[in-house]
This record gives sequence, structure tokens and C-alpha cells, in this order.
Amino acid sequence: MEEAARCVLCYDAPCSKGCPADTKPADFIRSIRFRNIKGAAATIREANALGGCTAKVCPYDRLCEEACSRTGIDKPIQIGRLQAFAVAMEKEYDMQVLEAPDATKEKVACIGAGPASLACAQKLALSGYKVTIFEEFDKPGGVLTYGIIPSRLPQDVVDFDIQKVKDLGVEFVLNKKVGRDISISQLREQGFKAIFVGTGLWKSKALDIRGKDLNGVTYAVEFLKKARSSMGEMRIKGDVVVIGGGDVAMDCAATAKLLGADKVTIVYRRTIEEAPADIAELEYVQALGIGISTKFKPQEILGEDGKVKGFLAEGTDGFSQLKLKADHVIFAIGQEAENMKEIADISLNDNGTIACDVNKGFTNEEGIFAAGDIVNGGKTVVEAVAAGKSVAESIISYLSKKEGVK
Ligand SMILES: Cc1cc2nc3c(=O)[nH]c(=O)nc-3n(C[C@H](O)[C@H](O)[C@H](O)COP(=O)(O)OP(=O)(O)OC[C@H]3O[C@@H](n4cnc5c(N)ncnc54)[C@H](O)[C@@H]3O)c2cc1C
Ligand code: SF4
Repeated sequence: MEEAARCVLCYDAPCSKGCPADTKPADFIRSIRFRNIKGAAATIREANALGGCTAKVCPYDRLCEEACSRTGIDKPIQIGRLQAFAVAMEKEYDMQVLEAPDATKEKVACIGAGPASLACAQKLALSGYKVTIFEEFDKPGGVLTYGIIPSRLPQDVVDFDIQKVKDLGVEFVLNKKVGRDISISQLREQGFKAIFVGTGLWKSKALDIRGKDLNGVTYAVEFLKKARSSMGEMRIKGDVVVIGGGDVAMDCAATAKLLGADKVTIVYRRTIEEAPADIAELEYVQALGIGISTKFKPQEILGEDGKVKGFLAEGTDGFSQLKLKADHVIFAIGQEAENMKEIADISLNDNGTIACDVNKGFTNEEGIFAAGDIVNGGKTVVEAVAAGKSVAESIISYLSKKEGVK
């Protein structure tokens, strides 16, 4: 309440303009300020199917909080914390803030249960469509469930947002990979009139260096997925080298350290100032005693009896060298698209992402739409939510026109 009271209720609300998913911080902060918590939760939930998750993982300092006019007076309003508070109250008091009409309209399939599909599904369900989400893994959530570390995003926050989508009547078919276990033509035969592809980026990029196939070499998302799924059981022994300079590299390094690694070193090819990771993430890993060696690029992973034993990197200055003892090497240098042609004969960009208008989501195949990381090449949760929502509008307009022609 105290924090909400600091808000100066700006007429032009620069914070709201700063949110890609249009979560309307100015509106929900005003509601909190006047003790209308249900109103605040309704504003958030209506705009943002992942209001609980984005409250935890959004880069606020680069979005709404950066725009906040209170910065000019003292410091920005802590918008993320206020959003998390409203969603926590929604859960605590079991508030039902959204209601879907009876699903009397066409069937729509969403492929993948990540932020883009969940946002698309929510919007379609609120407009009366019958939506089924098909997910390859045994739990929904995409990167929220399998990638982002629990200290930043507890699983109960993810589960609550997903439950709210389920409460609108959206069905989930888990352990079903489209393109492997079921084809698009089978989905069409089952009566799905539009198909939304929100498959994200799940193929890890690797460097073609000597030793990359040794036992002990792993990839960021696989490593984080395994750690998260082990429910605290997994332990790491020995020394770990993490390659990369983004938030994912920081997450891997922190996770390895918290799982018991003796020593963790991050190796990044540029300077610390050029590292794309958030300042808070960089500070966190440093506080955990993790070293960051900058301006070194990987040269070779050293092995013995098929297992990782060390790591060699060369300085970008052309003459220095770094040799580390290592029992595990984790590549955290980015993700790329799996082969989307296995799903449908859709046009792709050179990097394997789906070629389509980012806001409208129309692919070259009639009735197939796409959004999220698989289109934008990997951005943020809030951007995937924004894109999923906006492509849902394209699907609604496409199906309404088709219906009109009949
Ligand atoms: C480790 C990591 C940490 C991150 N941290 C942050 C952060 O702190 N803040 C932030 O804003 N963003 C973060 N991001 C980015 C953010 O998570 C993504 O931008 C966002 O999740 C993209 O959503 P999506 O729905 O497009 O894809 P995803 O979240 O990748 O979801 C896609 C889903 O589709 C499923 N799928 C794939 N292929 C098929 C198929 N053929 N059939 C059925 N299902 C399929 C996948 O299993 C997955 O569940 C992070 C990303 C990673 C990898
Ligand atoms: S910009 Fe800051 S002060 Fe202005 S309405 Fe938004 S949160 Fe309040």
C-alpha cells in the first residue's frame, strides 16, 4: 500500500506505455492504491495471462519501471512487486476475475504450452473458441517450467497462472509432440479450424570445438530442465565451466553453484560491459563467488577416458590463454529452432524461425499462425505474451471471415 501510495497517478502513464503486453500498470496501481485488489487482479489477468510469472521475471528496469515518472522525483515505483502482490492476493482469496463464455465457436489447436500459446489460448477462450493446447513435455509452461530457475520463478507461481487458463475451459494434451506423435493433417481431421504454433526454441547452439562430445558436456536448457525436474535432488560435483554471457549463462552458473559445484567459472568472449546479462544477474553470480573470465573464446575441451577433465580458451587479444580444470562444461550460447518443416510446410527464415508478420502471425499455410520465440528468434516472456495475444486477434478475424463466407 505504501509503495502504491508513492505513485503520482500520471495522466499520460508512461509506465503503461512501456509494457509490451499492455498490462496497464498505471490502472492496477491506482486500484491497489484505492484498496480495490480484485480490480487490480482483474486488470492484470485480463491483459496478461502470465501476470504472476511476468511479475517475477520481466526486465522491469528496461520496461515500465524505466519509464516511470517517479524516477525524476526519487526512484521508480516497484511495479513488479505490486503486480506480484495483486496476483498473490488473487490466489490467497481465490478470486475469480475472468469468466469465459460457453465455447460455442470453432476448435483451435495451439502447439506448445509456453507463454505465447497460453496467452493466445486465453484470448481465444475468452472469445468463445474451443481451444486445445498440445505439449511435448509432461508439464505445461515451456521455459517457465523447464528453464528459468526456481529462485527467480517458483513453480507454484507458474502453476497458478496456468490453472487460470485451464479455468477458462482450455484443454491440455501433454506428452504429445506435433510432427512426431500427431500431424497437422490429423489435427485438421479432428476439426481444428486454425492452428497456432508457439513451439519456442529448444535446440541448443553448440560450438564446433574439439571435445564437444565428451561426457560432462551439456547444454543450458537441458541442464536447467534436468535441475528443475529433479526437485532439489540433483547434485553437481567438481568444477564447472559455463560458456556465455547472457542471463541464461548466469542462471546455469548460479544453479551449478547452488547444486554443490566446487568451483564455477563463466567464460565470455567479450568484455563485462558488453555482456547481455542483467546487472542484477551479474551481481548475483559474483555474490555466489563465481568468477567471470572475459575476452576469452573456447578453444578445446580436454578429456580423459571419454570424460571432461579441463577447458582451454584463447584470449581475443591473440596471445593469452586460459586453462581451467573442469568436470562439466555447459554451453549457454543460445537456442535455435528445431526443424519446423516436421510440423508443416511453412516458410522459414534463414535461421530456421517461422517467417511471418510478428503481430499478425499469418504463415504462408492457410489457417496456420505463429508467435513467440519461434518467430522473434528469442526475446522475453512478456513479448511472447504480447505476440500470442495479438495473433489470437488475427485468428479470430480469420475464423470470423471464414464463418461469414459459409
Ligand atoms: C533459460 C532461460 C531463461 C530465461 N529467462 C527469462 C527471464 O528471466 N525473463 C524473460 O522475460 N524471459 C526469459 N527467457 C526467455 C523466455 O522464457 C522466452 O522468451 C519465452 O518463454 C518464449 O515463450 P514461447 O511460448 O515462445 O516458447 P517456450 O517458452 O519455449 O514454449 C514452447 C513450448 O512448446 C513446446 N513444444 C515445442 N515443440 C513442440 C511440438 N512440436 N509439439 C508440442 N509442443 C512443442 C515446448 O516443449 C515448450 O513447452 C529465458 C529463456 C531461457 C531459455
Ligand atoms: S509512471 Fe510511475 S508514477 Fe506514473 S502512473 Fe506509472 S507507476 Fe505511477
